[in-house]
Amino acid sequence: MKIPMSSPDLTSAEVEAVRGVLRTPHLSIGPRIVKFEEAFAAYIGAASAVAVSSGTAGLHLCVIAAGVEDGDLVLTSPLSFIASANVLLYERAVPIFVDVDPKTMTPDSTLVAEAVDDLSHGGKRADRWLPPELRDLGHAWDGPRLKAILVVHAFGQPADMDPLLGIARDRGLRVIEDACEAIGAQYKGRNVGNLGDAGVFAFYPNKQMTTGEGGMIVTDNADWAALCRSVRNQGRSDGSEWLRHDRLGYNYRLDEMSAALGLAQLDRIEDLLAKRDRVAGWYYERLQGFEGIEVLHTAPWTTRMSWFVYVIRLDPVIDRDAVRLSMEEKSVPTRVYFPPIHLQPYYAKRFGFHRGDFPATEKIGEAALALPFSGVMTEDEVDYVCKSLMEAIHESPALGRAGG
Ligand SMILES: *Cc1c(COP(=O)(O)O)cnc(C)c1O
Repeated sequence: MKIPMSSPDLTSAEVEAVRGVLRTPHLSIGPRIVKFEEAFAAYIGAASAVAVSSGTAGLHLCVIAAGVEDGDLVLTSPLSFIASANVLLYERAVPIFVDVDPKTMTPDSTLVAEAVDDLSHGGKRADRWLPPELRDLGHAWDGPRLKAILVVHAFGQPADMDPLLGIARDRGLRVIEDACEAIGAQYKGRNVGNLGDAGVFAFYPNKQMTTGEGGMIVTDNADWAALCRSVRNQGRSDGSEWLRHDRLGYNYRLDEMSAALGLAQLDRIEDLLAKRDRVAGWYYERLQGFEGIEVLHTAPWTTRMSWFVYVIRLDPVIDRDAVRLSMEEKSVPTRVYFPPIHLQPYYAKRFGFHRGDFPATEKIGEAALALPFSGVMTEDEVDYVCKSLMEAIHESPALGRAGG
């Protein structure tokens, strides 16, 4: 049995939708993008949606809309895909990483409150939160430099938003939700992406729904929506001359084929999510309680999980590399989700981060293993993956030595 790491869930409806576009002269800036945006805003329950060429582009636009500038500080999670921190660097902002809660893998709101307090206070108290390379440089890090919190809903699990929104309200901080892994996830019955100032979703082929490449910003703030539309489209303003550019912009547009594909996928979104939920259930049945394996905890505030990848954590005595190799030999691919951002070579070098800076994130990074996952997996495939995993763990010399 050969099992892919992920697979898109496509039907003839998607094929027909894309073909339909190819019979028209409108391959970009046509009617499908408008329909896709309207349908997506309605699905999330937001006033506006702005379609973009990727989730990364969407996050970048939100950072611009939040007014983040050179030298500003933005709090975010070191346990994420690199894009959620990179978008801060695009605007020359300073990422302030705050460690995650080890159980839910989402931001630790107690630590966030502490960081915001210290950073607003300035001086030595602020120093401990700054990247090592930026400490002791004689900066007067005053309160207003702290601009926003970029919250990551990691692995489709909502972050604990109420305390984070409270902190942001008290301090006048903007809140951007990276919901790229969490379409359809609900926090205390509310859709993620619509809880802060703006939320961003991504449609890369391994996400819950896909447009090939693509992303979507949702917001209730009309000014943010207008600014994102303008910057997405080379800095043009609504209704202005085609070759008039009011601000610095980018080409972050989504094309009509992708929008048509997105509309067809969004039509089936509840089915897509239900199928993933069923596959996650098959994994849970087989792996829950198995020695050496910890499955993802559903946080008490998570009223709906949106399964993005199926991540387990291996007991530290188990040799993860050996397990991966043994599974690979049985044609079962795995991934290490996520290596901490602060230890990525570029970040370590630029900011002086070291192992030990964010212990909970690092511990997850060392133990996490993502198993093949998609809505089109069969129960037999899940069975095969779990069997190969269990065999690999039993073969693991470390677990044997530990007497397991
Ligand atoms: C996928 C993802 C992104 C970026 O999405 P792209 O569409 O690939 O640019 C951003 N943040 C997180 C957490 C993601 O998983």
